[in-house]
Amino acid sequence: MSNSDQAELDKFSQLAHRWWDANSEFKALHDINPLRLQWISDLAGGLQGKRVVDVGCGGGILSESMARAGAQVTGIDLAEKPLKVAKLHKLESGVEVDYRLIAAEELAAVEPESFDVVTCMEMLEHVPDPVSVMTACGRMVKPGGWVFFSTLNRNPKSYLLAIVGAEYVLNMLPKGTHDWARFIKPHELAAYAREAGLDSVDLMGMTYNPITKVYRLERNTDVNYLLACRRA
Ligand code: SAH
Repeated sequence: MSNSDQAELDKFSQLAHRWWDANSEFKALHDINPLRLQWISDLAGGLQGKRVVDVGCGGGILSESMARAGAQVTGIDLAEKPLKVAKLHKLESGVEVDYRLIAAEELAAVEPESFDVVTCMEMLEHVPDPVSVMTACGRMVKPGGWVFFSTLNRNPKSYLLAIVGAEYVLNMLPKGTHDWARFIKPHELAAYAREAGLDSVDLMGMTYNPITKVYRLERNTDVNYLLACRRA
C-alpha cells in the first residue's frame, strides 16, 4: 500500500507543464527558492560535494538549485508528469540531478543512511501519512546529517491567509491546492521528527507581504514555516 493520495498527485501532474514558468501557479515556489536554499545551505555547512535527496521534488526547482550549489542530488516524487518536466528541464539547464519515481519509504529501504542532507519541502501537507514520510527521511539521512522540512501551520490565521487569501482573494494558487485539515502545527512536526529519530535544531517562519509581494524568513511561524533537524 502506497502512502500517497492519487488526487493530490493528479493535481500536480495537470499543472506540471507550467512548473518552470516563474509566473505560473508555481510562482510562489520560484520566489521562495533562494530563501530556503540559503537557509538550508547555511545550516548544513554548504552543499558542495554533499549527497542530497529531495523528497517530493516536483519539477525540480529546489533540486536543481542544490545541484547548482555543488550537491549530488537525487530527486524523488510519485507524480509522473512533474518528474518528466524535471528531466526535460535539466537537459535545458545542463544541471545534473538523478530523478526517480519512487516513494520515500521505498528509497529508505534500499538506501538507508546514505544522504548528508534530506529535503522535504511543501510536500507533507499533501500526503496521507506524513509521519511515515518523515520516518523514511530519518532513515535515509546519515548519522549527523540534516533533514529539512517545510509545511503550513494549522490555525485560524493560516486558514485565512493560506487558503482564503492565497487561493480565493489573491489567486496565487489554484483553488483546492491545500486542505487546511492537513496542515501541521510546528510542535506536532517537531514531535513527529523526534519519533523519526531526528532532533529539531532550527524552526524558521516564512512570511509574505501581499503589498510588496516580498517573502522573508523570520521568526513568525503562523503560516508557512521550515524545520531543520539533525540525526544524532
Ligand atoms: N518540493 C517541491 C515541490 C512541492 S509541490 C518544492 O518545494 O519546490 C508538492 C510535491 O509533492 C508535488 O510534486 C507532488 O507530486 C509531491 N507529492 C505529493 N504526494 C506525494 C507522495 N506521497 N510522495 C511523493 N511525492 C508526493
